[in-house]
Amino acid sequence: IIHTPAKAAVSKPEIHHHRRKQKLSSLCKTPPSVVRTRNGRGYHRGMFLGEGGFARCFQMKDESGKIYAAKTVAKASIKNEKTKTKLLSEIKIHKSMSHPNIVKFVDCFEDDVNVYILLEICPNHSLMDLLKSRKFVSEPEVRFFMTQIIGAVRYLHGRMVVHRDLKLGNVFFDPEMNLKIGDFGLATVLNPPYNKRYTICGTPNYIAPEVLGGKKTGHSYEVDIWAIGIMMYAMLFGKPPFQAKDVQVIYERIKRNEYRFPSDSSVSEQAVDLINMLLKHNPKSRPSLDDILQHPWFTSGPFPSRITTDSLKGTPSNF
Ligand code: ADP
Repeated sequence: IIHTPAKAAVSKPEIHHHRRKQKLSSLCKTPPSVVRTRNGRGYHRGMFLGEGGFARCFQMKDESGKIYAAKTVAKASIKNEKTKTKLLSEIKIHKSMSHPNIVKFVDCFEDDVNVYILLEICPNHSLMDLLKSRKFVSEPEVRFFMTQIIGAVRYLHGRMVVHRDLKLGNVFFDPEMNLKIGDFGLATVLNPPYNKRYTICGTPNYIAPEVLGGKKTGHSYEVDIWAIGIMMYAMLFGKPPFQAKDVQVIYERIKRNEYRFPSDSSVSEQAVDLINMLLKHNPKSRPSLDDILQHPWFTSGPFPSRITTDSLKGTPSNF
């Protein structure tokens, strides 16, 4: 997690790349071909899967041949207490999660140079990769994806966890094309009656206006509802609603709730109506997760019985 001059803990920008000072993940050396845990298990490193602001991810195979994703974090990048606390918090929160639409946490171990977080492998990439190759996603598919995402977020919020970094690049496909929410690097557990957090964090395009308000306003569960609205807009219209080259312009647009819908799009009015509800400036005016699923866009439109890997290549012919 890199600190920008504005002191925002900003996760890896997606779709539009902004210049960053230094990626902590660049400190991560390629792990050895075999990583041995303290209790003697051996994991064989496989191909590189991707990197975020903080970690690099590799395939790893256990002795029985089962394949996992290993998120590797260089110890050199976790020298200060704050970063250490954050990583431990990510591990603690992720470890306690068990839901079909959340990336499964398998194990955690270390060697001299890296900390390894072993996760369920999601070989079909993320929703962001799907959008990149497709440009737009059809309404029935978005309905299907949103239902799974909302199921996972309902589970998180029920356990008082706010994810705070929901974005297309953090929602992965498993081999069966079910969605799995990952990356708990910015997640936080709320302790009632103190249901607010004050740290400015997130990914520029997805940050809710109340997060930008910082100490004055505080933020809570509704930031995840906002991010669901950004994801829905991005899937249907091909880019996030507040997109701009300059991050400060993105923030200004978010604060003024300045977004438009392309006039040449065939997206339904019901979808537009739901997005407008999700992107309400006032967090209290946003719908609850149950309200979202009750919206006419969900209850009246076609809903695919399942999604196949064909969706990765193009709009399936029956949609
Ligand atoms: P960071 O905390 O540094 O942002 P991420 O959790 O986003 O790291 O992971 C970095 C990259 O690794 C992702 O963008 C993705 O390409 C890949 N990745 C992460 N988790 C998995 C997984 N479970 N299966 C496959 N690839 C993954």
